[in-house]
Amino acid sequence: MKICRIDMSTKSISFEEVKEEYVGLGGRGLTSRIISDEVDATSHPLGKNNKLVIAPGLFAGTLAPSSGRLSVGTKSPLTGGIKESNAGGTAAQSLAKLGYKAVIIENKPKNQELNLIKITPEGITIEDASYLKMKGNYEVGNILREKHGEKVTVMSLGQAGEMRLTAASIAVTDPEGRPTRHCGRGGTGAVLGSKGIKAIVIDPGKENKVEYHNIDNFRAAARNFSKSVLAHPVSGQGLPAYGTAVLVNILNEAGGLPTDNFREGRFEFAENISGETMFETIEKRKGQTTHACHPGCIMRCSQVYNDKKGDYLTGGFEYETIWAFGSHCHIKDLDSIAKMDKMCDDFGVDTIDTGVAVGVAMEGGYLEFGDDKGAIKLLEEIGKGSPIGRIIGNGAAFTGQAFGTERVPVVKRQALPAYDPRSVKGQGVTYATTPMGADHTAGYAVTSNILGVGGVVDPLKKDGQVELSRNLQIATAVLDSLGFCIFVAFPILDDETAFPEVANMINSKYNTNFDINEILAGGQEVLKLEKAFNQRAGITKAQDRLPEFFKEEAVAPHNVTFDFTDEELDKTLEF
Ligand code: SF4
Repeated sequence: MKICRIDMSTKSISFEEVKEEYVGLGGRGLTSRIISDEVDATSHPLGKNNKLVIAPGLFAGTLAPSSGRLSVGTKSPLTGGIKESNAGGTAAQSLAKLGYKAVIIENKPKNQELNLIKITPEGITIEDASYLKMKGNYEVGNILREKHGEKVTVMSLGQAGEMRLTAASIAVTDPEGRPTRHCGRGGTGAVLGSKGIKAIVIDPGKENKVEYHNIDNFRAAARNFSKSVLAHPVSGQGLPAYGTAVLVNILNEAGGLPTDNFREGRFEFAENISGETMFETIEKRKGQTTHACHPGCIMRCSQVYNDKKGDYLTGGFEYETIWAFGSHCHIKDLDSIAKMDKMCDDFGVDTIDTGVAVGVAMEGGYLEFGDDKGAIKLLEEIGKGSPIGRIIGNGAAFTGQAFGTERVPVVKRQALPAYDPRSVKGQGVTYATTPMGADHTAGYAVTSNILGVGGVVDPLKKDGQVELSRNLQIATAVLDSLGFCIFVAFPILDDETAFPEVANMINSKYNTNFDINEILAGGQEVLKLEKAFNQRAGITKAQDRLPEFFKEEAVAPHNVTFDFTDEELDKTLEF
């Protein structure tokens, strides 16, 4: 495998052998290591000294199920710390098949320009892309597929990335060529925009360069692991049937569905926006209730959501998006929320930070809670690049400042996702302490807090939450490095045969002999170096905290606060 380095100041491209110390790294483990090794933590995120690293996981392109996640790493313009944001879609598999371990984009052009990077079996070229200026991701994808072939993967920026807004995402196309999968969090799109890149086209060609030390053993382990995934009630039944939207009713019941900018834990119209309602709507309109965001995903939590006329409206419509534009903003119309999901995908912004920003704008009196038409109009402004659009497209923290509001649910300036930290306390610990800024996927404590997966930890009590978050954060760093979808954690937590099969896959692909503890130690190392980068960037323990209103205001219906002491939180990632 090789590492490619693209210098955007000279438009030069070079290839390197993989250093010995990088051989066992992939995905998040590799992006965080390269950023930590090569980027001065005090550099400006949009300046020439920041880099953007694109790395498939260690299992990308293999027979391992649901292992096609792509990691993008950089210094985040949103949090000011290290960032890894991963997405599904077909990019990771295409890069792995071409033999790329990572692509490092560095430096920046002197003048504002727009370029296209083309990666094919013949090599890499850089072309002018000024004809794509201020076009949305859907149009960009259509133009580039027409030009470069239907089979190519497109990674692209919408208008937000070009404007270098801090909620800007990088879109990755799904198997049908739709830009529905995003490296959403932390403003990675702004960094790609700062490098003068509008899109990356990847043509994997016909040859598959993925190698195995022992393919028979790998195949056997992958088969056993797949059985565990499919046998688990969440990954084998719940997610394929209803997608992640199944969580709307579950979290509402648990009193953990943040409503009206985290004022309540239940939403009176939860049923209108639930996974069950979504399922019926999709069936009626002849969409797809289950869909894989990349070939080889056996959980298929994605879907295709059609409009009232039966035409495609959006896809990859996740619980967190439904929540952000739904109960958070008191909006109860699922079609309006689907429309906003599509707009975010098209303009290239993180649905969580953007939805939370709209709620914060409601908090600031810019529009009424529940005003779906007003919210849609507000989002349109992002695509136009108007001043108010730029405010919203910079995310919740910036919007809070623009409107002078105190109630801004962010950690390290990144918006809190869809689980109230007071009534799902394990999630609160993860939000506060992950080096990524508030991020539910970094240590998904909803497992034991709400779903009874991996044991039961009472979501309303503090007991066991710090340990739970720590263990999940370590395991997640491993899964993100392998390129696994986070949802394979469900069988891993409940079926004791599952993780040994992951170890078998690693060992039979890479000719190693790791046991489970050594693999988990690798996850801990990733967290340590991410924390160290953040410290060098000036992020202190004082930023490992939730906004104070979570400590002071009890949330209904359980009337609980986020009651961890600073010392308790500081123990989470104290290795
Ligand atoms: S379970 Fe969903 S998010 Fe995960 S890889 Fe499959 S389709 Fe993508």
